[in-house]
Amino acid sequence: MGLSNIESEPRHFSYSSMRVYENCPHKYRLSYIRGYWINKESTALRFGSAIHKALEAMYKGQDAKLALKKSIYEKPENVLWKKSNPDREYNLAVKMLEMYDKKKLHLIPRDVEKMFNIEVINPETNEKLPWTLKGKMDIVTKDGWICDHKTSSGSLTQTWADNEFQATAYSFAYKNLYKETEKGIIYNVLIKRVKEPRLEAIVTRRDLSDKIYFFEVAKDFIGKVRMGIFPKNKGRHCKYCQYSHICL
Ligand code: SF4
Repeated sequence: MGLSNIESEPRHFSYSSMRVYENCPHKYRLSYIRGYWINKESTALRFGSAIHKALEAMYKGQDAKLALKKSIYEKPENVLWKKSNPDREYNLAVKMLEMYDKKKLHLIPRDVEKMFNIEVINPETNEKLPWTLKGKMDIVTKDGWICDHKTSSGSLTQTWADNEFQATAYSFAYKNLYKETEKGIIYNVLIKRVKEPRLEAIVTRRDLSDKIYFFEVAKDFIGKVRMGIFPKNKGRHCKYCQYSHICL
């Protein structure tokens, strides 16, 4: 057992790739090993990445609305708009951006959209994972916080934030890049509502046990990929899977 001779082992992983494997190992194989990328994006994905680009521009002192416009209207034929359209999404995104600006969060960035590609070392045993961990932190503040922006159709909970592997990945990255421990991770959740968009902040922290747990889960995931374990996780979610046409 192992990867087939047309497949090569990845050199890195991300929090998202781990999540895809957890949801459906076969989907992970199709996208991350075989490289089948789907052209069409969902409206939610286009909207979320447009908000990210606008906030990035805002924190860099650039024109946030222009960044938003470019992002929403870029190649609209590549998006599955379903019941929506670019104008509707743009108007809603502007409303959310204005609401965010009014709240004046006073985050003073040390870095914006900080990329990382780091070695992951077990803080207890010093064992190193064979693949590096890649990702990007939305904002790292001058006073030691990591801030991530999420767009969501509803509130996210403290339990969700406390269990989110992404925050543990950020904590590893912060330590590796800045040689100190972050004060915490703030999730700024922009709630997508046509009438009244909202902003909710959730603070979470990571300790040694969280990092050891992340390390063990990542090690297990890498081991299974190396052994070529990619079962299909069939279920109701397959209806929304971008790979259903080549899988089922
Ligand atoms: S259609 Fe279902 S089983 Fe197939 S890759 Fe997608 S989630 Fe997995």
